[in-house]
Amino acid sequence: MPQRKITVRGAGICGLWHALMLAKAGHDVTLTESSTELFAEACSQYAGAMLSPFCEEEGTEPLNRDLGLRALDLWRETYPRSDINGSLVLAQARDRRELDRFARMTEGHERIDGDKISELEPDLAGRYETGLYFAQEGHVTPQDALPFLLDQAKGMGVNVQLGVADAPDDADWVIDCRGLAARDTLKDLRGVRGERAVIRTSEVKLSRPVRLLHPRFPLYVVPWSDDRFLIGATQIESEETGPVTVRSALELLSTAYALHPAFGEAEILDVSAGVRPAFPDNQPRVIVRNDRILVNGLYRNGYLLAPALAELTARFVDEGVTHPEVFS
Ligand SMILES: Cc1cc2nc3c(=O)[nH]c(=O)nc-3n(C[C@H](O)[C@H](O)[C@H](O)COP(=O)(O)OP(=O)(O)OC[C@H]3O[C@@H](n4cnc5c(N)ncnc54)[C@H](O)[C@@H]3O)c2cc1C
Repeated sequence: MPQRKITVRGAGICGLWHALMLAKAGHDVTLTESSTELFAEACSQYAGAMLSPFCEEEGTEPLNRDLGLRALDLWRETYPRSDINGSLVLAQARDRRELDRFARMTEGHERIDGDKISELEPDLAGRYETGLYFAQEGHVTPQDALPFLLDQAKGMGVNVQLGVADAPDDADWVIDCRGLAARDTLKDLRGVRGERAVIRTSEVKLSRPVRLLHPRFPLYVVPWSDDRFLIGATQIESEETGPVTVRSALELLSTAYALHPAFGEAEILDVSAGVRPAFPDNQPRVIVRNDRILVNGLYRNGYLLAPALAELTARFVDEGVTHPEVFS
């Protein structure tokens, strides 16, 4: 394929994977980011970042599962610190029906008993009688993965420019990965606020994300590197980036405490909110307009979907091939 001059706009998870994938394909890639500080304005810094093609089936189309399974392979191949240890879905005995409902709406799991839960997560021994184990799922720690992807991209020759908001006029292709900022062009893009807390303790060890089902507050705990845990996340139809309410903070922190009382002694590192870019159907899209390709609407699944979307975009640039469910 002839080398093309490509500018990727936006250094969130979507832009990073695109820059990397297109550079790997042999193109001359520039990555521009409007913020002068890396990741400071990116929704991607707030994510879990679970790689859950099956658990996320609950609220999305089968397309996300298929793209997500491909993305898991790409994470595994690219990022040595990908934690592909599966994930657990649990419920208190009184919320057993939630577990049954979740099992009906998802694939890729096995029903496990208390002994198996203890074997997988010894710190949860004796706390839950039954759960669902999604063996193929994974997660990464964003604060490690984002800089890693950036370094990999630079190593592949990507020219990274910070503090650049304008679109270039000398590129063969412009790949727009500006997340919610692309609302100036994509009128049906909306923001969905997600609040989360980050805590630290060495008193609890988990090897995989744990989702706690609850009729009103289904939340999750993701074990990050350095004894940190992400507790997430609310889902509010709002583009407000402001502080987290007391009610949300209580719900988030209570979830961790309910999972294990030792979280009660954890240090609170951060309680904050990000705004996810979403289309009305909550599905991602790759939109081709002349020499521009807009990749957006990654919603709850930016980490899960970005590698596979970047691969599809690179294939389109090289071969003109489109994926009917993703491209428009
Ligand atoms: C609380 C929470 C938990 C989440 N958990 C998960 C999870 O567990 N798993 C998962 O897969 N996903 C998760 N997500 C979703 C995920 O974070 C998003 O889907 C993803 O971050 C969207 O990435 P993006 O690159 O499209 O946008 P962003 O990360 O917002 O990146 C866009 C970038 O473009 C830049 N930009 C803006 N304007 C310009 C311009 N003019 N020129 C150049 N650059 C510009 C911005 O500064 C920003 O850096 C979660 C989100 C939240 C809020």
